[in-house]
Amino acid sequence: MLRIAIQAKGRLNEKSMSLLADAGISASGSNSRKLLARAEGLPVDLLFLRDDDIPQAVAMGVADVGIVGLNEVAESGETVEVVKNLGFGACRISIAVPKAENYDGVEWCRNKRIATSYPVILSKFLEEKGVEAEIHKIAGSVEIAPAVGMADAIFDIVSSGGTLIQNGLKEVEQVFASQAVMIANPNLDSEKKEILSDIIFRFDSILSSKGMKYVLLNLPEAALPEAVALLPGMKSPTVLPLAEKGWVSMHAVIAEDELWNKIKALKRLGAEDILVLQLDNLIN
Ligand code: ATP
Ligand code: MG
Repeated sequence: MLRIAIQAKGRLNEKSMSLLADAGISASGSNSRKLLARAEGLPVDLLFLRDDDIPQAVAMGVADVGIVGLNEVAESGETVEVVKNLGFGACRISIAVPKAENYDGVEWCRNKRIATSYPVILSKFLEEKGVEAEIHKIAGSVEIAPAVGMADAIFDIVSSGGTLIQNGLKEVEQVFASQAVMIANPNLDSEKKEILSDIIFRFDSILSSKGMKYVLLNLPEAALPEAVALLPGMKSPTVLPLAEKGWVSMHAVIAEDELWNKIKALKRLGAEDILVLQLDNLIN
């Protein structure tokens, strides 16, 4: 049995649950927030925790693995292995100062009061830069600290930057880049390791199909070389003869961000009956 800790509620909960569900691990009776065991072919149970507690739970072996922001892993200082970047929950932790400040580099921070929920990451950064500052740990609403006179600057999570602007702040130093990661206890036994490697295999296939579309189309045979050059595919596109002479059917995987340009080019080559399908898994 492998126990997976995930965030009980909050920004990472939904995406963690849906990644696990895509991998065949779904929490049945999902309104129960206790321990839930249910996976297709995998002996797994889920443990719902506050995200701050996940690194420690995994380090202690209360959970074997966990899905959590890399920021929480770094802040906790717990000894866990980061086994996979999961590609969601992207954010950065940055220093922000009041808009009117003339920030000219980290040196600005010397002897300033900086409010943050991430004192460990901040003090490591400032130490590396040889800058001493007064770090004030506060749990929430960090962004209002300068306005109420609690701090000269803040060190906080930024994703779009909208909250900073609303509070009259500007981002001046991007210190830490984060995303959701899968972490594991470093001492898993071989049975647990095997379950984990099955899950990672499933995650890989899901993550590598992200942003990809499966495209089928009919094409005059004469246009084939040009179309193949356009669609390198994984090895090369699959080409099948059609009953109608002089025509072929071509199948290929195309990255979403190139899709419409490629389709336009293929139509110019005479492509017809173009089907674009959702791709759930890509297994190499
Ligand atoms: P919990 O109740 O579990 O302690 P929380 O309030 O500490 O939750 P959330 O706000 O749900 O945490 O954020 C969870 C994680 O989502 C963060 O630690 C971070 O890794 C990631 N994240 C991504 N974008 C943002 C953002 N804009 N603001 C805050 N966190 C973000
Ligand atoms: Mg938290």
